[in-house]
Amino acid sequence: MLILGEQYKITIEDLGHNGEGIGRVDGFTVFVDGGIPGDIVLAKIQTLKKNYAVGEILEIIESSSDRIKPVCSLSSICGGCQIMHMDYQAQLEMKRKRVKENIQRIGKIDTIVHPTIGMDNPYEYRNKAQIPVGIVDGKSILGFYKRGSHDIVGTDNCRIQSAINTDVIQIIKKYIDDNKVSVYNEKTRKGLIRHIVTKVGFTTGEVMVVIITNGNELPFKEELIMALKKKISGLKSVIHNINDKNTNVIFGKETKVIFGEDKIVDYIGDLKFNISAHSFYQVNSVQTKVLYGKALEYANLTGSENVFDIYCGIGTISLFVAKKAKQVWGVEVVQTAIDDAKENAVINNINNTEFYVGKAEDIVPKLYKQGIKADVVIVDPPRKGCEQSVLETIVNMNPERVVYVSCNPATLARDLAFLDENGYKVIEVQPVDMFPHTAHVECVVLIERV
Ligand code: SAH
Repeated sequence: MLILGEQYKITIEDLGHNGEGIGRVDGFTVFVDGGIPGDIVLAKIQTLKKNYAVGEILEIIESSSDRIKPVCSLSSICGGCQIMHMDYQAQLEMKRKRVKENIQRIGKIDTIVHPTIGMDNPYEYRNKAQIPVGIVDGKSILGFYKRGSHDIVGTDNCRIQSAINTDVIQIIKKYIDDNKVSVYNEKTRKGLIRHIVTKVGFTTGEVMVVIITNGNELPFKEELIMALKKKISGLKSVIHNINDKNTNVIFGKETKVIFGEDKIVDYIGDLKFNISAHSFYQVNSVQTKVLYGKALEYANLTGSENVFDIYCGIGTISLFVAKKAKQVWGVEVVQTAIDDAKENAVINNINNTEFYVGKAEDIVPKLYKQGIKADVVIVDPPRKGCEQSVLETIVNMNPERVVYVSCNPATLARDLAFLDENGYKVIEVQPVDMFPHTAHVECVVLIERV
């Protein structure tokens, strides 16, 4: 039996959902942060529960052949990247195996899972950064949260962020320190600057910077705008957002444009998107095109189909498939996302889409009762997967094909099992790496009526 505080030699066999290594001691599961399959480590047991333990690595006795030196020296403490110390090809294969294993074990389905489509350059891929601001020893610190905490890891060289976002961090840090602008403290709820959010249109080079403050004022505003304008050539929009609530939510209600416009523009393929401070937009523009391309290929549209895009967000997939479909219905629970979806349809001259706001589990059965039926259904649900009533309605609609875009292989597998029992067979699965160096796994599945 394992003893709390004792040290054990553990062979890492697998990776967990959060990228932590998993090994066993006498059959008992131990999670070891920072371990990767193939490592043999000496670990101290820090937490002991009924079904599992958590160990901390004291020494790597033998390194996995997939272990590499991460390009960022902070990756072992920063909450941003969990598996940067793993060779990129090994990351891709691990993600493929995770999908395959979940579909087999939970869904009881044996199917083709293709090799994960990775990035040619899996760095500097993020088009959006949300940067908490803190203070340590009288100096501002901007960066990302440590794993499992609200302590900030200061960084001015995050390697998965667009280099522009990194430039913005440096400018804001200098602005705060030079002008002695106060910084928000979560515990005392005093101080001004809370967060910086930056967004970059990868295809246009347009940049938005949002400064979120606890209170109405933004001192030395002109100096700040000048500094940003001088260094950031694509600067299109500087926004001041006020959030004086005691909350983990980043944005407050009030938003003022203090330079330029209230939005930037980006393209996915030949589709144009307006991105505002609040709007949701896929974080990895390059891989989003790959992911949607696969969804479109699986949808196999000829121009005569009625298509449902359930969990449509700002309508990106709806608009992507609209040109090849007769009619597309998008369903999404967030009102502002639906507003964006409608606007995006207009600016792209697309007039065969209709968007509905509400819970998919309410709206989809309602539309079906009104006689709306789809030939092809695309779903892209949040991590918890599809509600049973959504799946039931899809089956009742009797579409030829379902295309399932998933960010969680476990709930995907559960939903595929339901579809499988109700006359829909999984044809193939394509994982796409949307978040290199993190444990996130995204895939697209083609499902056909038997
Ligand atoms: N397809 C979009 C967004 C996918 S993310 C894209 O590719 O960008 C999942 C979306 O589901 C989010 O926009 C979220 O707001 C929405 N959502 C979550 N629960 C929902 C529900 N019960 N009904 C409808 N939409 C929901």
